[in-house]
Amino acid sequence: MDLSIPKEVEEIRAKAKAFVEEVAIPAEDHYDYDHGRMPEPIVQKLREEAKKRGLWTAHLPKSEGGLGLDLVGTALVFSELGRSPIAPYLCNCDAPDEGNMHLLHLAANAEQKKKYYHPLVEGKIRSGFAMTEPPPGAGSDPTTLSTNAEKDGDHYILNGHKWYCTGANGASFLIVMSKVNDSFRRTSMFLVPTDAPGYTMVQEIGVLGSHGPGGHCELKFENVKVHESQVLGKIGEGFRLSQERLGPARLTHCMRWIGLARRSMEIAREYAIKRELFGGKLSDHQGIQWMFAESALEIESGFLLTLKAADILRKNGDARQAVSLAKWQVSETLNKCIDRAIQICGSHGFSRYLKLELFYRDARAARIADGPTETHKMVIGRNLMSGKENF
Ligand SMILES: Cc1cc2nc3c(=O)[nH]c(=O)nc-3n(C[C@H](O)[C@H](O)[C@H](O)COP(=O)(O)OP(=O)(O)OC[C@H]3O[C@@H](n4cnc5c(N)ncnc54)[C@H](O)[C@@H]3O)c2cc1C
Repeated sequence: MDLSIPKEVEEIRAKAKAFVEEVAIPAEDHYDYDHGRMPEPIVQKLREEAKKRGLWTAHLPKSEGGLGLDLVGTALVFSELGRSPIAPYLCNCDAPDEGNMHLLHLAANAEQKKKYYHPLVEGKIRSGFAMTEPPPGAGSDPTTLSTNAEKDGDHYILNGHKWYCTGANGASFLIVMSKVNDSFRRTSMFLVPTDAPGYTMVQEIGVLGSHGPGGHCELKFENVKVHESQVLGKIGEGFRLSQERLGPARLTHCMRWIGLARRSMEIAREYAIKRELFGGKLSDHQGIQWMFAESALEIESGFLLTLKAADILRKNGDARQAVSLAKWQVSETLNKCIDRAIQICGSHGFSRYLKLELFYRDARAARIADGPTETHKMVIGRNLMSGKENF
C-alpha cells in the first residue's frame, strides 16, 4: 500500500480544509434546526463559491468536470470536507448524488448521460437511489426484493413500494432496483423520472437527525411505464451494479465521517483546554485525556482501514472484506467520538451552540444505513469461516 500523497492531491486537500474553515463552518450558523436543512438561497451561493475555489465534484475524472482524484486521493479530500456536515453537499459530493454519479459514469449510455448524469454533475438536478422496501421487502437482505417490472412491448411496467430513499423529495430522477418478470436473477436498475405517471412521493419520513435536501422518503410505483432505453446497464445486472455503487459509496461515507469525528474531538479539546475546575484545567485530568487518546486510536484505525479499502478498489481488487471492516469501524467510531465530545463539553455540549447535538443525531444513522453493523459483521465472519479471507 503506497500512502505517499502526490503534491497535486495535497494542494486540493489544503483547499478543502480552507473551504471548510472559511466558508462551510461559518455558514452552519444558518442551519434551520426546525426543518433540518440549510436555506436554499444560501446553499446556492456557497455552491458557486465551491466551484470558484475548484472544489466541485472532486471525485470525478477531469474529463467529467472533476479533479481526477483516485479513491485514496478522494479519501484525503473528503475527510477534510466531512468536518462540516454541509460542505460535501456544497461541493456536490454528498450522498446520494455522489454515489449515483459514480454509477452513471460507469453504466449509463450516451443518451442517459445527457439526460441525467451531466445535469447531476453540474448541480442542476438532484437524484435518489431506491432500494430499501418496507417488510417483507428488501432491507439488509436484498434477496427479499419485491418491486417488480413486467416487460410489455418496448416498455416495463413497474410496481413497488420503497422507503428511506434519501433526497427523493424534489429529485428529478431515481435509480430504482427491481426484479424483472418476477425473476430475482433478472434484477435490474431503472432510471425513473419523478414526473412519470404512477409515481408518488408519499412522504418525507420524520427521522432522528437532519434531513438534507429532499429528506428520506417513502415512494410508491403504481404501473409506472418505463421505456427499455431507461434500463441502466443490462437486464440482470442490478446486483453487480449495486456492488459497483455500494462499495465506493460506503467508503465515501467513511471518509466524511472521519472528518466529523475529528471535528467533534477538536471542539471538545477547545473546551477542555479552556475550562477550569478542581484547581486546574479540565484537560489536565487523566480521565479526560484518555477519552482523547481512545478517540485518536479509533479515528486513526478507521481512517487506515478506509485508505486500505480505497487502495484495493483503485487497483480494481475485491475490497468487500475491507469495506465492511471500514464501514463497521468508522460508523461506530463516529458515534463514540461525538458522544465523548458531548460528555467532555458538559451542558454546553448538549446545547445547539457547539453543533455537537446535531452531529450526534445525524451520526446514529451511520450504524444502520448502507448495511447495519450486524450485516457487515456477518459478511466479515462468513468470509473468515469459509477461508475466503484471513486475519
Ligand atoms: C438516514 C438513512 C438514509 C437511507 N437512505 C437510503 C437510500 O437512499 N436508499 C435506500 O434504498 N435505502 C436507504 N436507507 C435504508 C438503509 O440502507 C437500510 O436501513 C439498511 O439497508 C437496513 O435495512 P432495514 O432498515 O430495512 O433494516 P432491516 O433489514 O429490517 O434490519 C433490522 C435490523 O436487523 C439487524 N440485522 C441485520 N442483519 C443482521 C444479521 N445478519 N445478524 C443480526 N442482526 C442483523 C440490524 O440491527 C438491523 O438494524 C437509508 C437509511 C437511513 C437510516
